[in-house]
Amino acid sequence: MSKTQEKDGDNVMESIISLCKRRGFIFQGSEIYGGLAGTWDYGPLGVALKNNIKKLWWKRFVDDRDDMYGVDAAILMNQKTWEASGHVGGFADPLVECSKCKHRFRADQLDAEATTKKKCPDCDGKLGETKSFNMMFKTHVGAGEDTASVSYLRPETAQGMFVNFKNIVDSFHPKLPFGLAQIGKAFRNEIAPRDFLFRAREFEQMEIEYFIKPPKDAKDSEWKKTFDNFVGEIKAFMADVGLDAKKVHELEVPDGERAHYSKHTIDFEFDWPFGRKELYGLAYRTDFDLKQHSDFSKVDLSYFDEDAKERFIPHCIEPSFGLDRTVLAVLCDAYREDDMGALDKEKVEKRIFLKLAPSVAPYKVAVFPLLKNKPELVKKAKEVFEMIKKEFSIKGVSGVTFDDNGNIGKRYRRQDEIGTPYCVTIDFDTLEKSAGVTVRDRDTGKQERVTEGELIDFLQNKL
Ligand code: ATP
Repeated sequence: MSKTQEKDGDNVMESIISLCKRRGFIFQGSEIYGGLAGTWDYGPLGVALKNNIKKLWWKRFVDDRDDMYGVDAAILMNQKTWEASGHVGGFADPLVECSKCKHRFRADQLDAEATTKKKCPDCDGKLGETKSFNMMFKTHVGAGEDTASVSYLRPETAQGMFVNFKNIVDSFHPKLPFGLAQIGKAFRNEIAPRDFLFRAREFEQMEIEYFIKPPKDAKDSEWKKTFDNFVGEIKAFMADVGLDAKKVHELEVPDGERAHYSKHTIDFEFDWPFGRKELYGLAYRTDFDLKQHSDFSKVDLSYFDEDAKERFIPHCIEPSFGLDRTVLAVLCDAYREDDMGALDKEKVEKRIFLKLAPSVAPYKVAVFPLLKNKPELVKKAKEVFEMIKKEFSIKGVSGVTFDDNGNIGKRYRRQDEIGTPYCVTIDFDTLEKSAGVTVRDRDTGKQERVTEGELIDFLQNKL
């Protein structure tokens, strides 16, 4: 059993949060003011990691397909959108408040003792009655504060695609089946934000609304083929970002527990350090959304099938991905501790590293001069750095960094912690004996000499 597994979940999460802050991945939102619960700010390396994930998603689900249309809809939408979608009436969680300490909890997340005895888990005070709490952030658009000016920060990106269905049909005339895809912010006033990026109040989603012909009758299960195809694509995307397939579990959500719009749902759950919980969802939303928006807007959102000469409201299959949950899953899966510090001639008890897939790592290669105060080494290292930057890339991203801060051992540790797969060092043998550079492997600590002429091919083959 590895050291990572020996640590309990809370400790692992603490180590990951601390690494993210220390190395400039992710910070607490509004930290200098004491923070704002449920918000997180991405620093330079966090943005790079997140952007790499977004790019892989967009490539797989939009660029590499000819049946997918990208959109970027406004976050603020006409309030009728949320009446039609069911969010004004039903997007609520059960809330209980302690009469003594006034702390608030989600009633469905309390343990058995707190639920049956109505006892506050924080102070043993008496819990009040369960109330329904709508999770949408309400705001007013314009100077007026009347009900007509009410709007909401969108709690999901999905509705931005349904309200643009007709625009895409009228401007691109796509043949069914086709999908709309979007990446963007969503906001939920979660009662109890927790577990770092897992349950935040502001987060990003990557969603697809994929439109298909309606079933001919109750026995027609054509939709299942599209649904199953997306199960495969979701798994393939998880492999793209390097997630361990053994930590992902499919859960078919039973009748009665599905969202009001869904006829069939699979949750993709992940083994987080804090337990097995949802990472992504896949739902068969039927024609619920387009019908609702047709009814509420009085705009006909039906589709005319030229081949069959039929008009109908298409049905819809929705794969829904949390982007921040993907970032967190990738970090949790990659976090490692081992005893390899000594290999770098550093007296350290343990080495922390992120075993990130090169496809998502903020940097793929780091280049160092062995010593910072030897101008000839620094000059050569800069040349090698520029050469790699120009000639090396993974799917169009070069991701190369130059590092001459601190001694070489410290630099290896820093690059290990941010998940850089390879470090290239320029030493005196490079200069004096034309002996090439050393390339160090993050996971094994093994170093190899590689000639300058072979370096790009060597890295390109490894990554
Ligand atoms: P949960 O049951 O965990 O609250 P959900 O079923 O309400 O999630 P959906 O409405 O299906 O979630 O949202 C789609 C995806 O958006 C989720 O699979 C998840 O990846 C992400 N997501 C939802 N809520 C949050 C949140 N508060 N913080 C971060 N990501 C979230």
